[in-house]
Amino acid sequence: MSAGTSHTAGLRRALVTGGAAGIGWAICRELAAAGVLCAVADIDAEKAGNRAAELGAGHVALGVDLSDPAAALALPARAAEALGGLDIVINNAGITDTSGRRIGEIPAVDFARLVAVNLASVEGICRAALDLLPKGGVVVNLASGAAFRPIALRGAYSATKAGVLALTETLDREAARRGQRVTAVAPGFVRTELVEGLIANGRLDATAAAARVPLGRLGEPEDIARAVAFLISPEGAPLAGHHLLVDGGSAAAAGAAR
Ligand code: NAD
Repeated sequence: MSAGTSHTAGLRRALVTGGAAGIGWAICRELAAAGVLCAVADIDAEKAGNRAAELGAGHVALGVDLSDPAAALALPARAAEALGGLDIVINNAGITDTSGRRIGEIPAVDFARLVAVNLASVEGICRAALDLLPKGGVVVNLASGAAFRPIALRGAYSATKAGVLALTETLDREAARRGQRVTAVAPGFVRTELVEGLIANGRLDATAAAARVPLGRLGEPEDIARAVAFLISPEGAPLAGHHLLVDGGSAAAAGAAR
C-alpha cells in the first residue's frame, strides 16, 4: 500500500526531525515511498507543512525547536498523537559551525546550542521514544564521518557527532531489552542545498572535494536516505547499536574508520 491513501491501517509511522530540508527531506521521501507515514518535524514549521503536504494524505508536520530540551522530550508523544502511533524515529536534525573558529574560540552560548541540538535532543527524543515504540521499533540517529576524523575548525561539531555514536551504542542496550533497536548512519560530505549554495558562490570547489573521496564523488541525500531505509527494513533487523558509515570510503582511506 502506498502512502497517501485514506486507508492507513497497517502502515508504519515515523518521526523525522529536520525533515524539511537536505538529508531529512530525502529520508521523508524514501520512507513515504516505502509506505511509511511521516511526521516531518522542523524548526521551520511552514516549510515542514509544505513538505508534509507534498508527501500526501496522512503525513503531518510538527514545528519544534530542538535546542529546547523540554520540546525534544515531548516530540515523540506529539508525533504519536498526530500519526496515531509511532514505530520509527529518525534523529536527523543537526547544525554546524562554519565560522572557522577553533574550539576554544567558540562562545559558550554557541557551543551549548550545538550540543543541545546535535546531542542533547537526540538523548531526550530517544529516552521518550523507547517508552513509546512497540517491540520491533527502530531509532536511527544521524552521526557523521566527522565523529571519526574531526573536521579542522569544526571540532565542536565533531565532538557532538562522536557523542551521538556513543549514545547509540549505550541506548541500544536499553532498547534491546524491549525488543527495539537503536542504530546510526554516519554520512561523509553530502550535496545538500547548503553545500550546493557554497559551490554556487565559489566557497567550495566541488571537483576538488569529490577527488578527496575514494569513490570519486560527494554523497547525495538519497544515498543516506537509502541507508536509513535499509536500517528500518526487515533486512536491517540484525543491525543494532551500531552505525553504517556512508562516506564513499573517506574514513577508511584515512585509517580513521572503526
Ligand atoms: P540541513 O541544514 O540541510 O537541514 C537540517 C534541517 O534541520 C533543516 O530543515 C533545519 O531547519 C532543521 N533544524 C535545524 N535546527 C533545528 C532545530 N533547532 N530544531 C528543529 N529543526 C532544526 O542539514 P543536512 O546537511 O541535511 O544534515 C542532516 C543531518 O546529517 C545533520 O544531523 C548533519 O549533522 C548530518 N550530516 C550532514 C552532512 C552533510 O554533508 N550534509 C554530513 C554528515 C552528517
